[in-house]
Amino acid sequence: MSTYTVIGGGIAGASIAYHLAKTGNSVTVFDRSDNGQATSASAGIICPWVSQRRNKKWYKLVQEGARYYPDFIQELEEVTGQSTGYKRNGAICLFKDERIQQLAYERISAKQDDSPEMGAVRKLTDAEVKEMHPHLTNNYPAVFVEGGGQISGDQLLTALKEGIHTHGGKWIQQNADPEKCEGTIIYAAGAWAGEYSNKPNVRHQKAELLHLELQAEDGHTPSPVVMGLGPMYIVETGSNHYAIGTTHEDTDEFSITPSKENQDYLHGEAKRYFPLADISDQFMAVGLRPFTRDSLPYIGWTEDHIFSVNGLGSSGLTAGPVIGREVAAYLTGKETVLNLDDYAYI
Ligand SMILES: Cc1cc2nc3c(=O)[nH]c(=O)nc-3n(C[C@H](O)[C@H](O)[C@H](O)COP(=O)(O)OP(=O)(O)OC[C@H]3O[C@@H](n4cnc5c(N)ncnc54)[C@H](O)[C@@H]3O)c2cc1C
Repeated sequence: MSTYTVIGGGIAGASIAYHLAKTGNSVTVFDRSDNGQATSASAGIICPWVSQRRNKKWYKLVQEGARYYPDFIQELEEVTGQSTGYKRNGAICLFKDERIQQLAYERISAKQDDSPEMGAVRKLTDAEVKEMHPHLTNNYPAVFVEGGGQISGDQLLTALKEGIHTHGGKWIQQNADPEKCEGTIIYAAGAWAGEYSNKPNVRHQKAELLHLELQAEDGHTPSPVVMGLGPMYIVETGSNHYAIGTTHEDTDEFSITPSKENQDYLHGEAKRYFPLADISDQFMAVGLRPFTRDSLPYIGWTEDHIFSVNGLGSSGLTAGPVIGREVAAYLTGKETVLNLDDYAYI
């Protein structure tokens, strides 16, 4: 039996630990739940096919991530008896005008052959937008992607922790020093990785999401994820409750105090998408998104006995489960689906 110590219990570390524990090896996770942990602040959208990013290695990872989600969640929920909050109600993507809508429709549809899990892709009429999401403005042309979904980062971590215990692993809520840990170390410390090493070099972005309640007639629950104009998106968090985001601020600081300016900005954006509803702000969620070179996750050895996983960036909830599956297979000598050398670029 091999011994693995996982440092960091965000989606990266928790998923790797869960998949390693399933192999029957000895697994211990150390997590200190820093304020600003990206996983718990996340919006949790799983819809990689609509991205315009052209990096092929990144796309391969998130595509495989989205493909793996339904099976992964089904197994985790069965093993633990816990809900992860995973919903697959599709995604409504909004565009500035009909020309851009058409281009996006063609670009997204072109990925269907290679990604059948994205389901149907179709343009929506104004009436269809209103039917699917009564609060949402129909001022913008829309495309619907059937396979889009969302997950609750917090619920997913709770279920993974339970799953790790079920498979004989341990979860210890405290700081860990990589110099003092046993066995093979998986270092998945997110934005805080630089405390120990700058291989890979991890920088971070402070990202804020506004959680809000609509004082309006009940909407259609559950409603699809909304991919708005630019980087704006909206997810449903409960009946008439939504989160809208996000802001992107490159910073060296670890403070997670939300800014009033960003709250006002996000409130203004919410009014644009929900023009007829009274909006009351509930709270701001703030997380530190870890990035590495070219915004491509790093997955590989950084010292003889230290395997680092970091830089999951804006798509870590999408990629996290499949990274766990692949890293566990690699470390236990099994065949992987992805070529992990693509992500070990130091
Ligand atoms: C606002 C926001 C919205 C997002 N929306 C989406 C989305 O819609 N879809 C999507 O796919 N992704 C999204 N993301 C990205 C995703 O959340 C991140 O990529 C992912 O959560 C990063 O996971 P991680 O495990 O690397 O880091 P984290 O979740 O930050 O976890 C790192 C953990 O390591 C612990 N740690 C660090 N050092 C030590 C140590 N020495 N000892 C013990 N513990 C330690 C920390 O306390 C922390 O708990 C979003 C992120 C944010 C912030």
